[in-house]
Amino acid sequence: MKIFERLDTAIPLSPDEQLLLDSVRALSNDEIKVRAEHVDKNSAFPWENVQAINQLGLNAMFIPEAYGGAPLSYAAYLACVREISKACAATGIIWATNFHAIKPVVDFGSEEQKARLLPRIAEGGLASLAITEPDAGSDATGMRTSFTPDGDDIVVNGGKIFITSGDVADLILLFGKWSEIDDPKKAISVLVLEKGTPGFSVVRTEDKMGHRGSSTAAIAFDNCRVPRANLIGQPGEGLRILFSSLNKSRPSIGAHALGIARAAFEDGVAYINERKQSGRKILEFQGIQFMLADMATDLAMCERWLWHVAALVDGGEKDFSTEASMLKMRASDLAMRISTDVVQFFGGYGYCTDYRVERLMRDAKISQIWEGTNQVHRQLIGRSFLNK
Ligand SMILES: Cc1cc2nc3c(=O)[nH]c(=O)nc-3n(C[C@H](O)[C@H](O)[C@H](O)COP(=O)(O)OP(=O)(O)OC[C@H]3O[C@@H](n4cnc5c(N)ncnc54)[C@H](O)[C@@H]3O)c2cc1C
Repeated sequence: MKIFERLDTAIPLSPDEQLLLDSVRALSNDEIKVRAEHVDKNSAFPWENVQAINQLGLNAMFIPEAYGGAPLSYAAYLACVREISKACAATGIIWATNFHAIKPVVDFGSEEQKARLLPRIAEGGLASLAITEPDAGSDATGMRTSFTPDGDDIVVNGGKIFITSGDVADLILLFGKWSEIDDPKKAISVLVLEKGTPGFSVVRTEDKMGHRGSSTAAIAFDNCRVPRANLIGQPGEGLRILFSSLNKSRPSIGAHALGIARAAFEDGVAYINERKQSGRKILEFQGIQFMLADMATDLAMCERWLWHVAALVDGGEKDFSTEASMLKMRASDLAMRISTDVVQFFGGYGYCTDYRVERLMRDAKISQIWEGTNQVHRQLIGRSFLNK
């Protein structure tokens, strides 16, 4: 296990960031991990975890200082996502979604928008990112939600599905099509819809395989009037903003998946060191050693790649979409494989709910699907080598 401790000590963090990560690790182990079973079994939204995360002021790390934040490096952010997700994947994705939804406002919002909206998230508000619709999943350009300008307002009609925190968010970063632009791709635009906007409703929340404590909502907009002041960028700039945002959210999905993978790996190693059959520890059987060797090696390589991508972003690199796709794809495939193999290590006990590995396996699955399915990422990675 020294291999993984050594990898963790090599995460490029400043002394202040390291102190914060230590606090996040303590919170994750002492509180978030302890509540994870209850959150999963009862599909209970983890408000206590959200409050505890806010008490540490974690949202501030991705908000500029001028708007109430205390920005830290992208590596520090990814390290915190991984730590929280290792303890409770549902809580990890709720917190990471705040970043996914708010980073585009930080990067593309006007001064007035940032001054008005960002302090609400820095102070602990929840944010959602709403792209997916019933007929627009992998191909987001098929979205139908419409934005119709009307004086100082934009009238929003339509609906979104599968929106993480969509029912509880204070701010929703909402993608739709500008009614006055005919070209379906060029029409995509983005605005911030605030909680309490008349005409907004929650249609339902999903009953899911994993991440049962994180709410996943279908939401509808019936003539919602949003001030034009909440339009991010210009009409038609949505696709550019979307691609740029996904580049930064995909490594965060990779960090989240690696949290699940690390949790499963550590549980697996502990169990096969204790459990004996035929007078020997399970870890002494060669068939098991081969499985463990593969998972340990792949996990170490993938964790290293996580910090490589973090360093690219922190170094100011703009073109890292292929590296981000590689990370998202490999980390999520690995989380699925390791959690499944660790259930195998546990034998029949792994299939029952007494140990958390069965939850980790259920939680891992969605990471291969959201933020671009892994089929789509393979296509993106492959296509990047095409000579233009
Ligand atoms: C729990 C949960 C939380 C989510 N949170 C959010 C959120 O916060 N915000 C949000 O906007 N969305 C969210 N989503 C939606 C998620 O991003 C989509 O489910 C995902 O993008 C896939 O879209 P789809 O479900 O419509 O599948 P489809 O696009 O219909 O895909 C079906 C199958 O076809 C394959 N496929 C599709 N296109 C291709 C292609 N070009 N090449 C090869 N194979 C292809 C896919 O890989 C998949 O296997 C969430 C979903 C879930 C389940």
